[in-house]
Amino acid sequence: MQAVIAVDDSTLGPGLGGVRWMPYPDVDAAVAEACRLARGMTLKNALAELPYGGAKSVILSQDDGADRTAVLRAFGRMVADLHGAYIPGVDMGTTIEDLAVIGKVGAEVACDHEDPSPWTALGVYAGIVAAVHHLDHRDLSGHRVVVQGAGHVGSSLALRLADAGAEVVVTDIDPERSERVAASVGGKSVEPEEALGISCDVLAPCAQARVITPTNTPNLGCRIVAGAANDTLSERSGAAELADRGIIYVPDFLLNAGGVIHIHALRSGWDHQRLGEEVMGIGHRTASILDRAEATGRTPLEVAEEMATERLGHPMSVPL
Ligand code: NAD
Repeated sequence: MQAVIAVDDSTLGPGLGGVRWMPYPDVDAAVAEACRLARGMTLKNALAELPYGGAKSVILSQDDGADRTAVLRAFGRMVADLHGAYIPGVDMGTTIEDLAVIGKVGAEVACDHEDPSPWTALGVYAGIVAAVHHLDHRDLSGHRVVVQGAGHVGSSLALRLADAGAEVVVTDIDPERSERVAASVGGKSVEPEEALGISCDVLAPCAQARVITPTNTPNLGCRIVAGAANDTLSERSGAAELADRGIIYVPDFLLNAGGVIHIHALRSGWDHQRLGEEVMGIGHRTASILDRAEATGRTPLEVAEEMATERLGHPMSVPL
C-alpha cells in the first residue's frame, strides 16, 4: 500500500478531507496532488467557519490485483497512527463502504450514510442567488444558467435553479444523462464543446477540475462563474483575467462547502433545519465577499483568501 496524507493546516482543528484513490505517475505527483487538495480544504473549512483544518489523502492505485480491503486496512492503520490529526472522508475513487473499512482499524472517519451532494448543491444555489443579486439586484427568474455536469451535484442544482425560475441549460459528456436532467427541469441539453461559449448569466462548473483556462477565458459567454467543481481555475491568475473581462468568479472553495457542513452537522447532531440554515449561510458569505471585492477593487478570490487569513490568524492562499 502506498499513500500520502497531507495535513495542510491544523489551526482550527483536526484536518478534514477526502481519500482519493486513483493512478498517479509516481509518488511525487501524488504528494503534489495531496498537498494542493489539502490547501483547498483549509480554505474551505476556514471560510465555512468549521472547527477543522485542511487535509487530503491519496492512495496510489495498484495494478497488481492487490486486495482492496487489505489496502484500505493498511491505510486505516496509517490514519490511526496520526492519533486524530486527520479525519478522512469520501473522495474520487472511494466509497462510504471503503471508509467503513478504514474506520475498523482504529481510525476516526467522517463516514456518513447519506449522500452530501444535495447539500453541496444547496450551497452552490445559495451562492448563485447571491451573485446574481449582486450583479442585477434581482432574483433568479429569467436568468440563464449553464450547468456543466449532470451528476450528483449538477442534477440537484438544476432542479433548484428551475424551481427558482431560471432558464437551465445542461451539458454532460454522457448525452443521455444530460438530456434526462434537462428534460426533468424543462431545460435544454447542449454538447459539452458548446457549453462554455453559450451566452448566459451564470456558468456553473459541476464536472471536472480546471475547466477555466487562459485559452478558453476569452470565449466564455457568461457573466458569472459559480459552481461546485474543486479547482475550477487552471491557474490562480485566472481570477484576475475573469475580473478584467467583467466576469464575476465566485471561488469554488466558498461555494462547495455544503458537503463538509453536512459532515459537521452529522458529527454535531444538528437537525435538518439547522443544517439548511448553515448551508444557506454560503449565500450570505458570497454576498459579503462580492461587496468587499467591489468596494476594494480586488478579486473575490483575494477577498475570500483574506477572510480565511483573518480566521486562521496567518496568511492563507490557494497554490499558484
Ligand atoms: P459526479 O461524478 O456525480 O458528476 C460529474 C458529472 O460530470 C458526470 O455526470 C460526468 O459525466 C460529467 N462530466 C465529466 N466531465 C465533463 C465535461 N468535460 N463536460 C461535461 N460533463 C462532464 O460528481 P459530483 O458528486 O456531482 O461532483 C461534481 C463536482 O463537484 C466534482 O468536481 C466534485 O469534486 C465537486 N464537489 C462535489 C461535492 C459533493 O458533495 N458531491 C462536494 C464538493 C465538491
